Amino acid sequence: MKKSAADIREDLKAHVEFLSEAGAGFVARGPERKPAAPRPPAAAAAAPACGLPSLAGRRAQTGAEKKALEEIDRQVLVCTLCDLHKFRTHAVPGEGNRSAELMFIGEGPGRDEDAQGRPFVGRAGQLLRKIIAAMTFREDEVYITNMVKCRPPENRVPHQEEMEACQPYLIGQIELIRPRVIVTLGRTPTDYFAPGREGMTARRGRFGDYRGIPVMPTFHPSYLVRNEGNRELKRMVWEDMQKVMVLLGRK
Ligand code: URA
Ligand code: SF4
Repeated sequence: MKKSAADIREDLKAHVEFLSEAGAGFVARGPERKPAAPRPPAAAAAAPACGLPSLAGRRAQTGAEKKALEEIDRQVLVCTLCDLHKFRTHAVPGEGNRSAELMFIGEGPGRDEDAQGRPFVGRAGQLLRKIIAAMTFREDEVYITNMVKCRPPENRVPHQEEMEACQPYLIGQIELIRPRVIVTLGRTPTDYFAPGREGMTARRGRFGDYRGIPVMPTFHPSYLVRNEGNRELKRMVWEDMQKVMVLLGRK
């Protein structure tokens, strides 16, 4: 899909906005910046020194796998496996590139997402999309989804049995998309993909591992929205995302 000049301007604007909101000057001097080099091979990006699994083996996706992903979407749209189906306007399977290198997992659809059938389109979603632009990814290069595909009433945290009922869809999406990195947004997906007992402040920023896929936990964008004046939170999220960018050869 070719982007129009207006789209490119929007992306750039979002990029600059998030960086300046995050206090750009701060930006951690991480591993040296390579000037606009094409993406280095994955194995090189995942320097063995940091102990991360080699990502070299990422297989290309087959046509059958692409079809299977579409089938998951179809099943989600009519799913009645847990009580959340009773409250939904639209189920929200997820959206983005079906062979994305980078996958974001949130908690569950909110009001706007339920109304539109798309993930992360409300205020938190707009912030997430700015973060994605700041990471130099286009929205159609990444995949965005949630732990549960139907909105929990009053945006409560999904119950354990709801997450268990919904899990096969998400696990199927991960197995078929096979991202090179997963970012878990907030506690709910982090508890599943990078379990730990500490709070998010302690767990964010350190890669976990889900079946060989590095998992980066970070704060949920709605937490940033609720604490809008807190630049430190944004700075921390940006620090976490830079680690993801390094791994994906974007930095
Ligand atoms: N919050 C989430 O966790 N997911 C969405 O899709 C939107 C808001
Ligand atoms: Fe089905 Fe998941 Fe929706 Fe529950 S939340 S009804 S398991 S799609």
